[in-house]
Amino acid sequence: MTFEALGLSDEVLRAVNDSGYTDPTPIQRDAIPVVLMGRDVLGCAQTGTGKTASFTLPMIDILASGQAKARMPRSLILEPTRELAAQVADNFTKYTAYQNLNFALLIGGERMGDQQRALDRGVDVLIATPGRLLDLYERGNILLSDCKILVIDEADRMLDMGFIPDIERIVGLLPRMRQTLFFSATMPPAIRKLADAFLINPKEITVAPPASPAATVAQHKVVVAERDKREALRTLIKQEEVTNAIIFCNRKRDVDILVKSLTRHKFDCAGLHGDMAQPARMATLEKFRDGEVRLLVASDVAARGLDIPRVGHVFNFDVPVNAEDYIHRIGRTGRAGRSGRAFTLVSPDDNRLLGAVEAMLGQTIEEIDLPNMASVDMSEGEGDSHGRGRGRSGGASKPRGRGERSAPREATPEPEVVTAPTEQAPAEPERQAAPSRQRERGRGGSRRSEQAPAASSAPASPRAPREEPQRHGRRDDVRDGSLGFGDNEVPAFFLQRSIAPRPSSEASESA
Ligand code: AMP
Repeated sequence: MTFEALGLSDEVLRAVNDSGYTDPTPIQRDAIPVVLMGRDVLGCAQTGTGKTASFTLPMIDILASGQAKARMPRSLILEPTRELAAQVADNFTKYTAYQNLNFALLIGGERMGDQQRALDRGVDVLIATPGRLLDLYERGNILLSDCKILVIDEADRMLDMGFIPDIERIVGLLPRMRQTLFFSATMPPAIRKLADAFLINPKEITVAPPASPAATVAQHKVVVAERDKREALRTLIKQEEVTNAIIFCNRKRDVDILVKSLTRHKFDCAGLHGDMAQPARMATLEKFRDGEVRLLVASDVAARGLDIPRVGHVFNFDVPVNAEDYIHRIGRTGRAGRSGRAFTLVSPDDNRLLGAVEAMLGQTIEEIDLPNMASVDMSEGEGDSHGRGRGRSGGASKPRGRGERSAPREATPEPEVVTAPTEQAPAEPERQAAPSRQRERGRGGSRRSEQAPAASSAPASPRAPREEPQRHGRRDDVRDGSLGFGDNEVPAFFLQRSIAPRPSSEASESA
């Protein structure tokens, strides 16, 4: 099936063509005609499936064929993180190249004044994170009563991050007569319940996850004593003729130590973790993206959400604490059909974590040997890599020549996946969910025919902005003790492309 067959306008088709898309993805093929018909959608799809275009493209055509009332926003896209919101805004800009539609990107961490001014000028679409949207609403900057298309994206992540009360409140501020498009990568019972409350007779569309990086990335592990990891990494970087790579550490302090060590050995590298100031993080990312820095040493917070194309290699300096982070890490390479290579340094202390990763992959990662590296006995570890400070297995090491395989190891112990607690939203009385009018409405009935009463209620008096970062803390942030980077900051290149001219200095980036 072609894009032409989906019922999109010529203007949108031109923009799609400019984007280089030839065929619609399965979610686009199934969702676009349904959205154009005005029907609710319950999409079970994750990032990488083309789901953003599946709701943005038909939304553009619906908006282009209608008219704004008093320049009020007519559509609202809710995203759990600033990065995702900025990414959607970027897409929106691209797809509206031939249409006269505009949007406001309402995310925390950016100056409210700019967002207020954009709203004052009048916009067709709001692309927002829940906290900032409610802040602006409460300050009286937004009228949501003409928002007739609502997109709730990444609903399961919203749930993880404690945003559901905010979402319920926001939904209560929208007209009942609206079209709702609800997307989630997974459909646990809590999400299903929410979908039942928000949607009316939705078309359910489920698409397979994109090809797992496990299929497109050649994965290897190197068993090495903890104290030899840096040397092993340097050997690998040289041996692999690395063009560019992301090197993941489990801890922020190890990022700094490794950057110093690599720099001392004349490798071109930079660190990225949550303790760095935002302008410095953005500048580092830009340099890596532009090829000015070849090696990016990062904590897990950098692993998610960032679209950095053409990363040739990923090195796991440590086995990740959460097995699922392994997939996110190696997914930084081997993107868009390109091949990638991932190497994981494994010390005996990592035994249990490695077991969890391999159990999740359903395969054993192929082991390779490095020349002149002391061999280690995996059975000597305690099966828990938390004990970094204690004695290593080096005592039993013996030199192993190039190509010489290590002795067979003991069977991997029963894996234990370490899961850090999910941060809960603080219990603020004013943030409690308004009674869900959608729930009262019942299911499968007629279309909404009245405004939700809350839409007419006067905005609350101004108050201090919400602390979005508190609620954006992610499991990996909590786990390694670093504060969120990934979900709270927008990489400079997203912002630069979507809403602002390319800043000339760090100062302007942070403004
Ligand atoms: P998404 O799942 O919306 O995050 O999209 C994942 C990536 O796929 C983005 O980089 C899109 O630009 C790209 N993409 C979306 N639709 C198509 C398509 N029909 N053909 C090729 N690439 C696409």
